[in-house]
Amino acid sequence: MANIQLTFPDGGVKEFPKGITAREVAQAIGPRLAAEALAAKVNGQLVDLSSRIEASAPLEIITPSSPEGLELYRHSSAHLLAAAVKEIFPEARPGIGPATDTGFYYDFAREKPFTEDDLKTIETKMQELAKANLPYERLEYPKADGLKLFEQQGENLKCELIQEKAEAVFPVYRTGNFLDFCRGPHVPSTGRLKAFKLLSVAGAYWKGDEHGLPLQRIYGTAFFTRKELDEHLTRLEEAKKRDHRRLGTELDLFSIQDEAGPGLIFWHPKGGLIRKEIEDFLREELLRQGYDLVYTPHVARVDLWKTSGHLSFYQENMFTPIQLEDAAYQLKPMNCPFHILIYKNTRRSYRDLPVRLAEFGTVYRYERSGVMHGLLRVRGFTQDDAHIFATPETVEAEAGACVDFALMLFKVFGFDQYEVELSTWDPNDRAKYSGEASQWELAERSLESALRRRKIPFKRMVGEAAFYGPKIDIKLVDTLGRFWQLSTVQFDFFLPQRFGLEYTGADGQLHQPLMVHRALLGSIERFFGVLIEHYAGAFPVWLAPVQAMVLPVSDKHLEYAREVADTLRQAKIRARLDDRNEKLNARIRDAQLQKVPFMLVVGDREAQARTVALRRRDTGDAGSRSLDEVRDWIRQLIDTRAAKW
Ligand SMILES: [Zn+2]
Ligand SMILES: [Zn+2]
Repeated sequence: MANIQLTFPDGGVKEFPKGITAREVAQAIGPRLAAEALAAKVNGQLVDLSSRIEASAPLEIITPSSPEGLELYRHSSAHLLAAAVKEIFPEARPGIGPATDTGFYYDFAREKPFTEDDLKTIETKMQELAKANLPYERLEYPKADGLKLFEQQGENLKCELIQEKAEAVFPVYRTGNFLDFCRGPHVPSTGRLKAFKLLSVAGAYWKGDEHGLPLQRIYGTAFFTRKELDEHLTRLEEAKKRDHRRLGTELDLFSIQDEAGPGLIFWHPKGGLIRKEIEDFLREELLRQGYDLVYTPHVARVDLWKTSGHLSFYQENMFTPIQLEDAAYQLKPMNCPFHILIYKNTRRSYRDLPVRLAEFGTVYRYERSGVMHGLLRVRGFTQDDAHIFATPETVEAEAGACVDFALMLFKVFGFDQYEVELSTWDPNDRAKYSGEASQWELAERSLESALRRRKIPFKRMVGEAAFYGPKIDIKLVDTLGRFWQLSTVQFDFFLPQRFGLEYTGADGQLHQPLMVHRALLGSIERFFGVLIEHYAGAFPVWLAPVQAMVLPVSDKHLEYAREVADTLRQAKIRARLDDRNEKLNARIRDAQLQKVPFMLVVGDREAQARTVALRRRDTGDAGSRSLDEVRDWIRQLIDTRAAKW
C-alpha cells in the first residue's frame, strides 16, 4: 500500500498509509488527542474525523481549543435540535440550522407555534439523543436519488435547497433518523455534545424574505463544558435585567411610539436631563480642545448629495427625497457635506488650519422595520460628529488628539476596557480605493504612529478600510464583557476632492486639505442605550436625573424636609421631596427602584440637629451626617463627574 506524508501544525511530518482516516491519525498521535478530536483540517479544509486522506497534505486535528471548534460544535448541536424536533413533531419541516456567534438555531415550517413547554420537551429529547451517542454519518447521493429521498419524507424546504445548491453527488448527514442536506463537517457523534440549552423561539422567514414562508426559529446555545454554559446563562439573565428597553420604561427615560413610527426616539424628561448632561460635558470639552460648534439643517437639495456621492454609494440607507417646488430635498444621513460647505464658505490659509467643526448632528437613515432595536438600532439619531480639516504637518497630532479625547470620555463614563482597530487599505488591490498612494501612506502612518506613541495596543485590519480612507475604530467593553463599537477616526480623501476643498499653503500655492471624520460616542441614542445597560440604570451622581430624594418620616418633619431639599437645590443638586402620604419604607423602596443615588431621611432628631439620615442606593444606611457635609459631598461628586464613590 502506498504511503502519504502528513505535515502537522508544529512542522513535523509523518508517514501514514494512504486512505487512513483523520480519526486514526489522531489515535496514532495519542489517546488524549483522539479523545478530544472533533474534526480535522486537511489542506486548509475542515472535514469529519471519519474522512479518508488520500494524498499528502498539511493536517490539523480540530479540538475544543481550536478556533474552529466551537462553531462546528454548535452547528452539530443544531442538527441534534432538528433530530429531536423531528422525533416529537414529525410534521415540522426543517429549513436551515447554522451556528451563530453565541449559539445556534434551526428554522422550521410548522403551523402550530412551538410553546415554552415544547422547548423543554425538545431539549429533553436532545439529551436523550446525545446520551445514545449517535454518529453523524456522512452519506453521498447522486442528485436525483437524494432529491427523491427527501421528497418521500415530505421535506419540501430541503428539496428546494438541494435543487438550488447541491452538486451532482451531494452529502447527506444522518443523525439517528434525521437526514440533513449539509456540507459538514460535524462532531463524530452526539455523545460529544455535553452542554446545550434551548433559549427561545422567534419568527423568521424562509430565505429571509419578508413576503416568503413564515418559519419558527428555535434558538439555543452550546458550550464545551457545563461551567461555560452556566456562566453564559448567568450573563444572559443579567443582560435581560439590564435591557435598556425595559429600564427605559421602568425609569421613564425614553419611548418609541407606534403613532410616530419605528426607530424614532422620544426622550422623556429624565432621559432628556441625562442627555443634556452628556452634551454639556461634551460641549465644554470640545471648546477646551479647540473645536468650533456649528449647527446645520436637517435637509438639503438632492444635488448636494449627488456631489458628495452619497446618492450613488449610500442611497439604500437614505430616506426617499421630499419633492418641493424648486427641487427635491433629502433628509441628511450624514453631516459631512454641511461641514464641508461651512469650510468652503471662507478662503482658508494654512495658518487657519486645522479647522475643527463639531455638531450634535441629527441624521436619518433608512433601516428595514424588522431590524430596529430600542436605542441601539434606529432611524433617527444624533451623532457627536466633527470634521477636521488639516495640513499634512498637523494631521498626526489631530488623529492622536481624537484618540485621547475618546479614551478620556470612556473613562469619565465609567468604562475602562476597550479595543482598538486600525483599518488600512489592501495595497494589492489599489484600484478599489479613492485617493493617491502618498495620501494613504501619510494617513496610515499618522494613525499608526498616534497609537504607537501612546502605547495603545491595536489590531491591524488589512483591507478593512473604507474606499475613501483608513481609520481607527475604538470598541469599548461593558460590565458584561460585551463589545460596543463607538468611536471612529476616519480619513477621507474622496470628499475634499469632490467638493474641491482648498487652502493656501506657506508656499502661496493652493493645496487640498486632509479631512478627518470623527465621532467619539457615535450615536448619542445608542450610547445612551449602552450606558443604561452598563449601569443597569443606576447612573453616576452627575448623570442621575434625580440625585437626592428627601424623605420626611412624617408630616411633622415636612418643614425641615423642605429646607433640606432647598439647601440642596441652592447648590444645584437635583433634589426632590417625597412627601406622599405613604409609609417611609414604601417611599424608600420607590426611590430605590428609581435608582436615586442618595436618600435623605429626616425625623425629629435630624430636624433638631440639622442633620440627615443618609441612605445610599447601593449599600443602604450610611448613618447620620450634617446637612452641609452631605451637600458638599454630593456637589463634589457632581463636579468631579465621579463614576464611583
Ligand atoms: Zn451540518
Ligand atoms: Zn463625516
